Parts: sequence; structure tokens; C-alpha cells
Amino acid sequence: MNKKWDLLVVGKGPAGVSAAIYAARGGLEVLVIAKDGGALEKAAHIENYYGTGLISGKELLKKGEEQIVSLGVELRNEEVLSLGFAPDGWLVTTDKGEYEGKNVLLATGVQRSAPKIPGLKELEGHGVSYCAVCDGFFFRNKGVAVIGGGEYALHEASVLLPLASSVTLLTNGQPIPQNLPENLKADDRPIQKLVGETRLEQVEFASGEPLSVAGIFVAVGTAGGNDLARKAGVPIQNNLPMVDENQMSPMPGLYLAGDLCGGMLQIAKAVYEGAKVGSHCVKQIKSEAAKG
Ligand SMILES: Cc1cc2nc3c(=O)[nH]c(=O)nc-3n(C[C@H](O)[C@H](O)[C@H](O)COP(=O)(O)OP(=O)(O)OC[C@H]3O[C@@H](n4cnc5c(N)ncnc54)[C@H](O)[C@@H]3O)c2cc1C
Repeated sequence: MNKKWDLLVVGKGPAGVSAAIYAARGGLEVLVIAKDGGALEKAAHIENYYGTGLISGKELLKKGEEQIVSLGVELRNEEVLSLGFAPDGWLVTTDKGEYEGKNVLLATGVQRSAPKIPGLKELEGHGVSYCAVCDGFFFRNKGVAVIGGGEYALHEASVLLPLASSVTLLTNGQPIPQNLPENLKADDRPIQKLVGETRLEQVEFASGEPLSVAGIFVAVGTAGGNDLARKAGVPIQNNLPMVDENQMSPMPGLYLAGDLCGGMLQIAKAVYEGAKVGSHCVKQIKSEAAKG
């Protein structure tokens, strides 16, 4: 029979790690499963999180991993494929096996899909960003563009408009959305490549024409909403999963925290929500044990 973990966490970003810290220190048996470093892996410079000073996302991620492992948390590098019910809990299926948990936390972040544009990957952290609220400040009074054409792209553009000297929505061959804000420019020409020696300098369209920009914000696809949560039956309202003040969904024992829950897509908020989950699981399990 499978071991039943007190808390099974999907994701080793700030939300998942914070939950694991609180749960492990409260005496729970915790397994964290993650497929990669999530959003933090893409964050070249973090300078707005308490106590760290300027730190790279990769370094913060590594510190988080070391901290949970030192507290006795088991960490596995696997991809979660589905979430289902098990007797008195949850069953998580990964590409390598199955795990049962009395409680499960989905801390899977948001999908930040990147289009396959030559130069994009190479210029990440050098003018190419995936987070307007994080990096917009570095592009004050400069011309920037947002790649995307959905609600998420419009949201990112709205964050940049008060900061940048100009913001252009690049839909890369897709139709330009209706009802754009007045000061948001839009261009639907297909993009050929991004050009820059050490930093992004310009976008080159398939027509060969260039557009000079200091920054590109990639916002393709949707922010928030998560397949695992939806499939497990968590109600979605305004494109966000429904949770209570302890981050628990209406399905007992199933929690969601971090970027997945929308709002401020920042480390501080993910850490807070993860801490609430860890503490709440400890309280729940202790009160059940006391009842016998
Ligand atoms: C370029 C960039 C710069 C940023 N800069 C800052 C900054 O300066 N300050 C700041 O506060 N915030 C910044 N952020 C935002 C910050 O990184 C996020 O708010 C934070 O990481 C969210 O934490 P999370 O735990 O919710 O999700 P994430 O950190 O995204 O972690 C998600 C985890 O879930 C795992 N996962 C997802 N799906 C699966 C699956 N199916 N199976 C297994 N594992 C899965 C991933 O592998 C990952 O481990 C930045 C983000 C980006 C992209």
C-alpha cells in the first residue's frame, strides 16, 4: 500500500516551499513534487523581497530547496499528470508514480508560455521579461512592447502604460483585440526575430522592418487558471480557483496558493499564502489526532 503523506505539495516555488516549511516544522510528513524551478528560474534579479538584498531567482530557489530538505521534507523531481480522489484523501499521479496525501497543495504558479521567436531565450533578463509588475520599473520612460493578444497581455500592458514612454502590443500575426486603451499602440505584423548584442535593441518583423524597443514583456496564453485544479473539480470564478481564507478549496484537503490564485504575482504574496496552508494543515491534523 502507498504511504499516505500528511501534505503533498505540487511545486517548489515560494508558495510550495513556504507551505512545506510550516508543515514540516509542525511535525507533518511532507512530500514536494516539482518538474522545474517555475517562475523563479526566469527571474534574473530580485530586489524587492525582504532580507535577501539583490538575489537571482535561481539562488533563492536553491536556498528554498536546501531549507526544506534540511527540515526532513522529501523533494522529488517529477511532473504531475493528474489529481484524483483516494480513500480519505488525494491521489497524485506523476510521470514516475502515484502518491497519496491526506492534504494536497497545488502551488503550480501560472503558465508563462513563450512563443518560439529567435533571440527571445537569449535575451531573457536582458530586455526580455515575463512579468510587468516585477520588471516594469526598470523600463521607466522607455519604449516597450508586450507580446500577446489576450486578456493577460492587456493586463500586462496596463501595468506598463503609466511607467513606460510608449507601450506597443505585438500580436505576432494574430488579430488585434477590440477596445484597446487609448494610449496603447498595437501591431499585428508577424515577428521574425529579436535583435540585440548584449541587450534587446529591436524587434524585426517578417517584412524586414524594425521596431526599436528597450523591453519586451511576454504575455502569451493565460495567467491563472490551472488544469489540475479544474480537473479536480475546484470551482473557477473570474478565471481564478475558489479558495477560503486558509487557501483551501471547497474540496476538503485540497489547497491552492501562490501565483495560481491570482492577485499580486509576487514572492511575498506566494510565501504568505503557502505559510497559511502549512499552518492550517498542522492545526487540522493535530485536532483530528486529538479526537482519536
Ligand atoms: C522574469 C520574472 C521576474 C520576477 N521578478 C520578481 C521579483 O523581482 N520580485 C517578486 O516578488 N516576484 C518576481 N517574480 C514573480 C515570482 O517569481 C512569482 O510570483 C513566484 O515565483 C510565484 O510563486 P509560486 O510558488 O506561486 O509559483 P512558481 O514559483 O512559478 O512555482 C511553480 C512550481 O510548480 C511546479 N509545477 C507546475 N506545474 C507542475 C506539474 N504539472 N508537475 C510538477 N510541478 C509543477 C513548477 O515546476 C514550479 O516548481 C518574477 C517572475 C518572473 C517570471
